[in-house]
Order: sequence, then structure tokens, then C-alpha cells
Amino acid sequence: MGNPLVARMQGFGTTIFAEMSALALSTGAINLGQGFPDTDGPREMLDAAIDAISSGRNQYPPGAGVPELLNAIAEHQKRFYGLRVDPAHEVLVTVGATEAIAAVILSLCEPGDEVVTFEPYYDSYAATIALAGAVRRTSALRFPDFAVDEASLRAAFSSRTRLVLLNSPHNPTGKVFSRAELELISSLAREHDAWVVTDEVYEHLVFDGAVHIPVATLPGMADRTITISSAGKTFSATGWKVGWLHGPAEAVAAARTVKQFLTYVASGPFQPAVALALGLGDDAYRGFASSLQAKRNLLCDGLSAAGLTVARPAGTYFVIADAAPLGASDALDFCRRLPDLCGVVGVPVSVFCDDQDAARTLVRFAFCKRDDVLTEAVARLGALAAR
Ligand code: GLN
Repeated sequence: MGNPLVARMQGFGTTIFAEMSALALSTGAINLGQGFPDTDGPREMLDAAIDAISSGRNQYPPGAGVPELLNAIAEHQKRFYGLRVDPAHEVLVTVGATEAIAAVILSLCEPGDEVVTFEPYYDSYAATIALAGAVRRTSALRFPDFAVDEASLRAAFSSRTRLVLLNSPHNPTGKVFSRAELELISSLAREHDAWVVTDEVYEHLVFDGAVHIPVATLPGMADRTITISSAGKTFSATGWKVGWLHGPAEAVAAARTVKQFLTYVASGPFQPAVALALGLGDDAYRGFASSLQAKRNLLCDGLSAAGLTVARPAGTYFVIADAAPLGASDALDFCRRLPDLCGVVGVPVSVFCDDQDAARTLVRFAFCKRDDVLTEAVARLGALAAR
């Protein structure tokens, strides 16, 4: 019968994260591929989930999310960014940021509408744009500084642009967009009357005093911006899949209409636990970033010492390195061989790019791992470089 998959999803076979995590499992290699921490988040958050299960919060939560989480999200946006968000009409809890991205794109894009995004892009962006029958228009961020190129960004906009899908801090580059870059994106969005959908799942994971600026805080942008985040990264709970979006009430209502028929609701007992985590003190938030910054330093210094050119990230839990000194000429092929070469798994950046030449020998490594794991990975990569 041939491949039964609809044409628009062909080419999206198995995600690179699933492929590389399976490879790590089957070879016993150190997994610096898929981004997930190997230690748990705050104890009080874990206990709150256990309490929620024990106290019977195990049935469908309300469609928009449990009230204490809606309130905690609004309070978080006020506390960290001075944003005023109405928890009753301007917030929607989703199954991770992934469902928020899908609900927004599927609710805003007609077939043929264009979505402007930067490449390399997070893998679900391309797949979700394709699911909606929309068209991806990209502007490349180029190694090693990943600066926004104004000419190519302008060229990506057209009369069919429906929305800009932005991600800052940015996976996989670790870039934190500057105010000037965000202003440029915002002015192009206004010029083309486009929505800005901004994926800020790494909002708290920034280093060396870098400042994350939510697009919704820029003058005049709140009424055309939909902000997405997730508990997975901030609180080291990627398996809980509690995400959210907020924005103007009409956009949130549109996303809610679609979300009802994707999953209806999810994560009942985890929602009150995330509400508690969002209210943790500033010291807890500072602790998440500073412990990750030390891990970034450990991995980046090790990769540099091994002779690799490293683009030291200002945020996220990823670093991109040029693996040419390790013998890479095609990163996908190289990453498939890396477990055998030295017992480490990374992710080829080329799978996140339309322009394959921009990332031919680039590999993304995750540093959200225990220090002993990172130290061993660095030793193995260093030994490979020395061969
Ligand atoms: N966001 C994680 C990463 O970039 C993986 C998430 C996933 O596997 N879908 O590695």
C-alpha cells in the first residue's frame, strides 16, 4: 500500500531527539543529545504533585487549566516582567510548550499562510507549520555569533506573512536575542500586521548577567504577541509536560478552541505542583541559572580544550560546536558514528536547517547533566580529538 502518511508530513519520520536517545540507550553512550536534565527539580514541587495525586486530584482539570496555575502564571509574568495578564481570559495551560505551539499555529494559519522563523529552528516548528498547511520562511542565524541578518529577515516577510515564530533564549544556538533584534522583528511584524508567537521556554536559563526580554514587554507589542513557556526546563520536569500560553483574549480563545480537540486537558495533578514552583523565591530561580552556568562552563571549556570552536551560549542548556577537528564532514553521519567513535551522543544542527551549508559540521551538545557525566564526556571527546 506504500507509505500511508499524508504528503505534508513526509520527511518528518522520527525526530532527531528520539533517534539519538535510542542510539544512546542501545550503545550505552553518554547522552548529550536530547535536552533533558538527569537530576530532579525542586523537592517541594515534587511533593506537591504527590500530594495532589494522594488527595484525589486525578480527574479532568478545567479546560483552560486549574485556577491556581492560571493565577500563578499571571503572577509570574507580573513579578518578572511587569506584564499585566488576566488569568481568566488571557492564559491557557497546554500539554507542554509543544501543544501551545501547535494550538497557536493551527488556530491562526490558513493553508498557504506564511510563518517567518529563524533557522536553525526547533524541530516541532517545521512539522507544525506543515501540519497547518502553512509555509515556512526562514532567516538564518549563522555560526559562530548567530546574529540576526536584517536583509534576510526582511526578505522572509511578504504579504502572506501571518505570524513570526520566535524563540529566545534560542534552541539550539543558546542565543539570547538583543533588544535591538527584538525591536527589528517587532517593527517588521507591525509593518506586515503579523502576530508574534514567542517561545520562551528557556526564559530563566540565562548566564553571565544576560537579560531575557519578552517581546510582549516591547512598546505596542502586547496586543499582537502570544507568549509560550513551559515548566519542563525551568523546573527540570520535562516529563510532566505542563506548558502554557498567554496573550490577547481573542488569540487565547482561538488557541483554546483548537486545544480542546488536540488533547482536551492533561496533567491534572502536575498543574498545582507547577503553580507552587512558579511561586518559588528569587534565590531558587537564581540557583537554577547559576548551577547551569557552571555546567555550561565545564562543557564549553572542555570542548575548547579539545580543539573545537565553540559558540559559548548566553542561555538554554545547549552549546553548538564545530566538530570538524573531530573528523566530522557531515554532522548527521558523524553523530550517528559518534557513540562508536567515543561513547558520546550529540545532535547534528543540520536537521534544524533548510540551508544545509550553514551547519555542515556543527553539533549541538546538552549540558543539563551531572558534573561527573559532563567531565567524562569531555574526556572522551578530548581523547577522540587527540587521535
Ligand atoms: N527540547 C528538547 C531538545 O531540544 C527535546 C524535546 C523532544 O525530544 N521533543 O533536545
